[in-house]
Amino acid sequence: MTRIPGTRFLHSPGPTHIPDEVLHAMHRQPMDHGDPRLDQVIAAIDEGVMRLLQTRDSDLFMFSSNGHGAWEATIENLVAPGQTVLIPGTGHFSESWAVQAEALGRRVIRTSFREGYPIDANDLEQALRADARREIVAVFAVHTDTASSATADLGALRAAIDAAGHPALFVVDVVASLAAAPFAMDAMGVNVAVGASQKGLMSPPGLGFIAVDRRAGKIPARNPALRYYWDWGRRKADLSYRKFCGTPPQNLLFGIEAALSLLFLEGIGAIIARHALLARAVHPAVECWSREGAVMFHCRVPAARSVSVTTIETRAGIDPEAIRTVARERFQVAIAGGVGPQTGRDGMERAIATLAEDQ
Ligand SMILES: *Cc1c(COP(=O)(O)O)cnc(C)c1O
Repeated sequence: MTRIPGTRFLHSPGPTHIPDEVLHAMHRQPMDHGDPRLDQVIAAIDEGVMRLLQTRDSDLFMFSSNGHGAWEATIENLVAPGQTVLIPGTGHFSESWAVQAEALGRRVIRTSFREGYPIDANDLEQALRADARREIVAVFAVHTDTASSATADLGALRAAIDAAGHPALFVVDVVASLAAAPFAMDAMGVNVAVGASQKGLMSPPGLGFIAVDRRAGKIPARNPALRYYWDWGRRKADLSYRKFCGTPPQNLLFGIEAALSLLFLEGIGAIIARHALLARAVHPAVECWSREGAVMFHCRVPAARSVSVTTIETRAGIDPEAIRTVARERFQVAIAGGVGPQTGRDGMERAIATLAEDQ
């Protein structure tokens, strides 16, 4: 492949473009385990992530893992083997989380999923009402599904759980939405928030984190599931070596500390406004490109379109891989390919390219 000069623009929903300040912050020697400066870095990240999530009264757990690791930790701590979770269908990511829970011996109830549509809060309410024996211990909802690029209305989902009078915990995956779409854990009545480092946090992949409120924090002690590395209780400690169940990923933490500084320098409100502004540029552009019918929005509901990722379908017969190749090789723009059922290579009639607006 020819080497093309100039700056590459990584327009992928994750990993995302990493600012130079973050890259430079990682370029240093690690510290010894006992160095109090390491504890300061970890404390700064703990505080910064809680601030981003807008939660005061939660515990934050961090893992040397990607988002799938954080998913696994959530399943292992909150749900005993044989217990049930309700996972509203958002597409690839809700389904992957469901498959993972089932692989770990948990029962999953799914609400039906319509391609191109966000979670239907009524479906959620009905599924909870139907659970007369109160077997569902938690609702696992994906805020923005990166494959479908639809963002769920978390207020409506919380209201549906309340309307059903169901005690299930409200667990939200904010991997693709944090620091892009509005989110406020405490105000939205979210019990557990699950995130990762490589999307809105502008850092390399490799850190998964989970904020757990008081109510959810009591569950693991009563949950007999065997667990060690993922166990939240074991990680409630001041020692960095215990917090990470072994050596903390220091250089990654240096980067995330710098990324959080950048985010707070800009301000949460300004970050949310910037993403909304970029979405107001990208969405009309896609609408304009759609007029001839060669491409179209995958998400059929304008109000549910994500501000951080836009999934575009191509008409049958148009290969999205060719578009991506031209974008990458001629214009230095890396556009992500479709994932899951939206993969361009799986013989589906419609294929999808993903365009991220982040940064
Ligand atoms: C990217 C993503 C994940 C998975 O993260 P990995 O770090 O790739 O394991 C989970 N949920 C959502 C919504 C995502 O976009």
